[in-house]
Amino acid sequence: MHILVTNDDGVTAPGLLALAEEMSKIGNVSILAPDHNWSASGHVKTLDRPLRIKEVRLSEQITAWASDGAPSDCVALAVNGFLKEKVNLVVSGINPFANLGHDVTYSGTVTAAMEATIWGYPAVAVSLESPENLVGPADYRSASWAAGVVARSVNHYGLPPNVLLNVNVPYLPLNEIQGLRVTRQGLRVYHDKMDMRLDPRGRPYYWTAGDVPTGLPERGTDIGVLAEGFVSVTPIQLDLTAYHAIPDLNAWDWEQEPIHPQGLTLQKNHKLVEDHKV
Ligand code: MN
Repeated sequence: MHILVTNDDGVTAPGLLALAEEMSKIGNVSILAPDHNWSASGHVKTLDRPLRIKEVRLSEQITAWASDGAPSDCVALAVNGFLKEKVNLVVSGINPFANLGHDVTYSGTVTAAMEATIWGYPAVAVSLESPENLVGPADYRSASWAAGVVARSVNHYGLPPNVLLNVNVPYLPLNEIQGLRVTRQGLRVYHDKMDMRLDPRGRPYYWTAGDVPTGLPERGTDIGVLAEGFVSVTPIQLDLTAYHAIPDLNAWDWEQEPIHPQGLTLQKNHKLVEDHKV
């Protein structure tokens, strides 16, 4: 089994090394990760400049590759040309902070795994819910264990097509972890404020500030089970279609206003999207 390990915190991040060490117990590991931190960069495809790769030694045993691309670029680079040996699993992380609810759209950790899904590879993103006020390096032992459990299970059962796993691990010692739970995305509550300041020339600039996000700890959600001490495993997909909204939208009168200045309009009662049987 050949496992590609990547992350969004950069190739020197301790969570990447912890993940690579755990994955090397399961299979052959290749590491290709960004050369700097891309946290909260979302899903990126770099088209306007070349991507370069250099070798980086992470430990006595582990050598990695670093690129100047985003986490998603690293996955595309690895599976679409750089690695000669076929990849069987892509694992991204271990991110030092949780990726819950809507975080998945911001997360470089999760979008690296999404990129793997686009290219047809089973993928897992792993994040640790370190406390925000953590002093010193995070303890990745429980998250490494969870990553190992999930990777072995994915290898054993296989993932459904177009589905990736978003794994979040509570910041607890291993003997206090209650187990694993399959969850749905919960509701993150963001508290951002755009802080306006003045530059030395008196011109305004803005900086995202405000308190760190919280969340609603509903039963069965990623946020809920973490609060109960379980590892959260959320199956996610890239199809963001709101299927429940299609019937309502099909009932709209789309032709109240002329749609085309020359008077061309949609065929009367034309359905914008075919009814979808869910
Ligand atoms: Mn990160």
